[in-house]
Amino acid sequence: MRKVLLAAMACALLTSITFAAPGAVRCGRLLDVRSGRTLDDQMVVFDDQGVILTVGPAASAKLPAGLTPVDLSAATCLPGLIDVHTHLTANPTDNGYASLGVSVPREAITGVKNARLTLRAGFTTVRNVGASGFTDVALRDGINAGDVEGPRMLVSGPPLSITGGHCDNNLLPSEFHYKAEGVADGPWAARAKVRETIKYGADLIKVCASGGVLSKGDQPGTPQYTLEELQAIAEEAHKLGRKVAAHAHGTQSIKDAIRAGIDSVEHSSLIDDEGIALAKQRGTYLVFDIYNDDFILQEGAKAGMLAESIEKEKKIGRLQRENFRHAYQSGAKIAFGTDAGVYPHGDNARQFAKMTEWGMKPLEAIQAATVNAADLLGWSANVGALETGHYADIIAVSGDPLADVRVLESVKFVMKGGTVVRNELAAK
Ligand SMILES: [Zn+2]
Repeated sequence: MRKVLLAAMACALLTSITFAAPGAVRCGRLLDVRSGRTLDDQMVVFDDQGVILTVGPAASAKLPAGLTPVDLSAATCLPGLIDVHTHLTANPTDNGYASLGVSVPREAITGVKNARLTLRAGFTTVRNVGASGFTDVALRDGINAGDVEGPRMLVSGPPLSITGGHCDNNLLPSEFHYKAEGVADGPWAARAKVRETIKYGADLIKVCASGGVLSKGDQPGTPQYTLEELQAIAEEAHKLGRKVAAHAHGTQSIKDAIRAGIDSVEHSSLIDDEGIALAKQRGTYLVFDIYNDDFILQEGAKAGMLAESIEKEKKIGRLQRENFRHAYQSGAKIAFGTDAGVYPHGDNARQFAKMTEWGMKPLEAIQAATVNAADLLGWSANVGALETGHYADIIAVSGDPLADVRVLESVKFVMKGGTVVRNELAAK
């Protein structure tokens, strides 16, 4: 019986994997995300590993014999988009007490669904910052093995938190003796937690430095980890070759995280001038998830969010958007991160319009989700631009994203590593 099952599984696996082959994509227009220039009639040629060999005018492209390029001559091509703050294993419906009924295996399966939605929306790379039970590690590995359709993933595993902090689980009374798996208090316990998280497969460390919106019994503005703890976490993670992302809404925690040498500040809601100056001085990326405020206020109660969470969002949402604009105008480095999972996966691109509404030019919002995001990930040589040596992660849209950034909300073509995932532009 077991043998039969294994044989059937092997067969299903073989049919589900698309083996890479050399290929080419002909783009009617191609946005060079570094220069901001839109180039006409370009050809992207890639090898059998899905790595770009050449990008240049279609008329002079040298194609391997017998190769027919994918015809996107009516569309605009861009590099695959990057979201540096997702929770693929979480659904927006599983908030507050409803979250307690979701098992770790169920979260993993949710991740399979959301990975597919995210990739098909044009996000070919994500950084997943917080998941239970190392479900994100399993999802990343399943995607890399070709078992699951999804974006390239960097994953953090369970986020580090103080006892009772934003990334602890504070829903149950004391007799349940429950705490989240990432809880660690004190510099040495936090170092041990960093080591353990990396042991089980994390690519980076996520730490909850301040209080948050969707947690019980805390305030976004209050510090949680001390500077000493954050320094220990950053030093330990960096020593082991990993970057650190810090959840920080509060003014003090943002500055503590930057001073500790943490690589990106997530949410950044209450950042002040000193925090912006520090981020610029240290080269710290700021990640402002400025779309999901609308979702939390409109849908949060239905989605099971606690009443206190909605009250907290009412206080902080607009300030976060104003501070995004201020940080952008001050010249801080900004990477595109949405907190998808708080709102539905696949809607990630809706944040582009918010970023332009609050001051950015469309090109700058696109750069936040391509070259800047790739830089934060440490993957600049591989993703975030359509250049020789990069993965052939290509998306295409109808229309001009520099004129209307909302065209990114309806991506028509997605290729990951030379394999077509979605194509609504195929010749009819
Ligand atoms: Zn998050």
